[in-house]
Amino acid sequence: MIKHSVVLSAKEQAYWFIVNQGRVFLSAEGTLPFGSQSHLPIASQGTQICWIGEYQQHPCYLMVFDDQATDETQWHSARVFLTHGEALFQLAARATQVALFLQTHRFCGQCGSAMHLVNWELASLCHKCGHRCYPRIAPCVLVAIVNDGKILLARSSRHKAGFFSVLAGFVESAETLEQAAIREVKEEVGVDITDLQYVGSQPWPFPHSLMTGFLAQYAGGEIVCQPHEIEEAYWCELDKLPQTPGIETLSGQLIALAQQRYGRK
Ligand SMILES: [Zn+2]
Repeated sequence: MIKHSVVLSAKEQAYWFIVNQGRVFLSAEGTLPFGSQSHLPIASQGTQICWIGEYQQHPCYLMVFDDQATDETQWHSARVFLTHGEALFQLAARATQVALFLQTHRFCGQCGSAMHLVNWELASLCHKCGHRCYPRIAPCVLVAIVNDGKILLARSSRHKAGFFSVLAGFVESAETLEQAAIREVKEEVGVDITDLQYVGSQPWPFPHSLMTGFLAQYAGGEIVCQPHEIEEAYWCELDKLPQTPGIETLSGQLIALAQQRYGRK
């Protein structure tokens, strides 16, 4: 539960996630601001503060920084927290996603009136037409397809040459995760899969995805890359991997798991 409209005591020592346009403020030393609100390194007029969790027995607050960011070098993608442990990454993910929600739900999408935050849950409500909104979370499937000691790796148009990963795609309305996995794989590389096995999930705040990871077995079909989406795709020997995502990401964990289970010993 995320508490907003919090009243802070002047001396409360807390960790501060100051967020501007999806980026988090870090000190020149690369650390998260810690201390009382009055000692923050930057401040913004009329900003909203939300309690978003606890870290090392201290409260963590989100402060949405609306002003123009001054020193560009001190604002970072939540991605930098990936290497700081799961707890801190999760807080950074929550901070940037809640900040985005607050910034993009000021007006009603149905009638255009001003929205108001509900005081007992994180939601915004239009007092005129009753439309209620919650922070958006977009589920996404990652699929590691294995076949006889090989894994299907692909390079999307967003990735540089030489960097490969498992297939990924967004879940569409009224689809199950499994249906989305089967459809995305067919669309992106033209192959059929079977024996889907759920592995785990990871929040991915770029800007508001929830990654879900599956292992799957190859069932048939030749690789045909979807134009504009997939630049190249191939069956890669699990013991001869190219450059792939790090183990801190769910994609990296899926590849490692495939290697451990299906790689040639
Ligand atoms: Zn409305």
